[in-house]
Amino acid sequence: MRGLQYARLAKGIPLKIAAHTVGVLLGLTIFFGLVAPIALGSWVLALAGVLYYSIACDKSLADADTRRLTNAEFRKHWIAVALVSLVWCVPIGFFTLRGTATEMLAIWTVVSTLCVGSALIISAAPLGTIIFTVMTASAACVTALLVGEFEVAAIILFFAAVMVIGTIGSARTYLKSRIAEAGIAEKSEVVSLLLREFEENQADWLWQVDTGRRVRSVSPRFSFALGKEPAEIEGTPFLQLIAGDSWQTGQFAPSLHDLAERLKRRENFSNLIVKVIINGEHRWWELSGTPILDDQGSYIGFRGVGSDVTEQRESSEKIAYLARYDTLTGLPNRLMLNEALRDAIRFAEQWNTRCAFLMLDLDRFKSVNDSLGHLVGDQLLARVSKRLKELMDDNTMCGRLGGDEFAIVIRDASERGSVEALARKIIAKLSQPYNVDHHTLYVGASVGSAVGPRDGKTVEEMMRNADLALYRAKDEGGGEHCPYEPSLHASAEERRKLEFSLRRALERNEFSLNYQPVVDANEEHVVSFEALLRWNSAEHGFVGPDKFIPLAEDTRLIIPIGTWVLEEACREAARWPNHIRVAVNVSGEQLIEPDFASTVVRALANSGLNANRLEIEVTESIFLRDANVARAALEQIIALGCTVALDDFGTGYSSLGYLRKLSFSTIKIDRSFVQGAAQKSAESLAIIRAVVAMADSLEMTTTAEGVEDAEEAAMIRALGCTKIQGYYFGRPMPAIEARAIFDDQGRLTA
Ligand code: C2E
Ligand code: MG
Ligand code: MG
Repeated sequence: MRGLQYARLAKGIPLKIAAHTVGVLLGLTIFFGLVAPIALGSWVLALAGVLYYSIACDKSLADADTRRLTNAEFRKHWIAVALVSLVWCVPIGFFTLRGTATEMLAIWTVVSTLCVGSALIISAAPLGTIIFTVMTASAACVTALLVGEFEVAAIILFFAAVMVIGTIGSARTYLKSRIAEAGIAEKSEVVSLLLREFEENQADWLWQVDTGRRVRSVSPRFSFALGKEPAEIEGTPFLQLIAGDSWQTGQFAPSLHDLAERLKRRENFSNLIVKVIINGEHRWWELSGTPILDDQGSYIGFRGVGSDVTEQRESSEKIAYLARYDTLTGLPNRLMLNEALRDAIRFAEQWNTRCAFLMLDLDRFKSVNDSLGHLVGDQLLARVSKRLKELMDDNTMCGRLGGDEFAIVIRDASERGSVEALARKIIAKLSQPYNVDHHTLYVGASVGSAVGPRDGKTVEEMMRNADLALYRAKDEGGGEHCPYEPSLHASAEERRKLEFSLRRALERNEFSLNYQPVVDANEEHVVSFEALLRWNSAEHGFVGPDKFIPLAEDTRLIIPIGTWVLEEACREAARWPNHIRVAVNVSGEQLIEPDFASTVVRALANSGLNANRLEIEVTESIFLRDANVARAALEQIIALGCTVALDDFGTGYSSLGYLRKLSFSTIKIDRSFVQGAAQKSAESLAIIRAVVAMADSLEMTTTAEGVEDAEEAAMIRALGCTKIQGYYFGRPMPAIEARAIFDDQGRLTA
């Protein structure tokens, strides 16, 4: 603020020089002849000196308004003023003592004129004026008193007092106005900055309409947004420009109608999203507007800002879509299914009805994906979704949970059997063959269902329970619908515990192998043993392989367990006579491990067993997943000299085509056909005959599994099977018992 005041001093320099010059000339005329010329000359010189110094000070303060005034500069300023005042005191005091009251008054008039001038011209910096006035007035007063002019002294005092008070007052006023000025300058800078920013923001424009809602004062940016020349637009009704064809029909889109209403009602609005048509193209505008009033306060139109928000809106719509729909199939995703289920549960509770949640999983989808690639897999999923959608109605909604898992929400499932009926329909429809990319694909579906609120009062509970039911349905071999029942929880819990124990079974040495003899169908002597895994768990006791092998496969624990079986079986077989072979069961999971062949090599090397004494038993299921990887692994071990048997032939997926895919040495005919044949089932008999005939032609041997008595053995022999395995010739037995058989045989043959 001091800066603001003192910067003014520099501007007053010419006037200052002029005033002092006139003052000096007047002083000289007053005192000419009264005072010695030498004294007058000295005074003029002294005044010139101090004035020069003072002016230099003033000049240096010219830029004070843009910086801080230092204390030293301030001090220099008042010292200069005091010096000038002091030199002016000389004629007042010293000269007048020699002259008369007339001279005294004359010189005082000159000095006081200088005071007033200073006060008027440099009112900004009152200190100079005050110092000058006080010093010169004091000198004049003292002089007046000394010469006994009391009235003059009083007038001078009064004058000085008025001067000081007035100077301070006007300095204050000046300061206030300067501060206000500075504030205004700052504000206008901000406004212009904002305006520039607004102009540079490509998206926004200003718009204005008159009382007839016709566009006025069209800005270039606004005309660009409208896709027309400013001249074409000026004076055209605003709505006509943005309503497209609906302008003729008057059938405005709701947002446009809203805008029209607001304009009609002269209502303020901000950020109104309006769907407009520009050159036949739909776009989204965000508009704000305020009615404009003239000086008399009467309405003269609307003015506002607008921007095109089509891109933002489209991307936010897209994001909203992506958040709720699955991109691959276009079906609702997990989030939307969750919401629908939550809604359905609420509805069911409110109206005392039932809702249902179905979870379905495709059977054998993974094998399609693995063997034919993700592209085919994706297309298949899209086809499945299409079929599912065709089965939906107002009461049902289907969606994709992820992978090959889908779900269906039935809002009202009160009708008895409706869930079961839909599940059957879905399984039947999805199990029809698909034609994708010149492949005919067969996948099935398993369904698990939960009925709410009976089976769950929350989305989470319903989902978990439907999932448990689905798990059971898959466990039963697929193609099934399984409704939730509370006992599923217990079995899930048991499975969890079993898995926990299974994880530690290897290190706790709980596994052992049993060996079941396989005999020559005609000679009835042992040709090999099948190694069968046994688990005696500390927590669960003896657990059958039918129970723990699938669990081990699911959890991939079968890899280390299977390795152990191979090692152990080879070690044991190495102790047997050279012509006795060993068969080891291997799961598909093991085959697709990259180092399966080296595992076999290691087992053979560690035990010293000849490769041709090891037979690997696989089931047809290996061809359903990663068929090529599995086949490559088997070919590698065949190259080592091992043989491969196809186990449980005739169950599950049976296709004679598999037999051509790999050079199996043996086909093991499943126990169910042997039992069937024993009961004279024509079908079983036909199958056994066909398999035997085919095996003969492909130079494979056949093993009949599960022969339990002499009658069955005789029948199997008659049917032409090469080998027999079954309780009749020996149950699975511990290693020691198996060894004992050779001793007997050895003695027999010896
Ligand atoms: P599998 O390979 O078909 O084994 C033959 C199964 O039939 C054995 O059941 C055996 O005890 C049974 N069996 C043999 N003869 C008769 C008979 O005359 N009557 C009856 N009722 N059953 C008979 P087990 O030992 O319970 O094995 C079941 C399945 O577990 C095996 O079927 C095999 O698939 C799997 N498995 C066993 N050990 C292993 C293993 O080490 N690794 C793998 N991956 N799977 C194994
Ligand atoms: Mg087997
Ligand atoms: Mg078998």
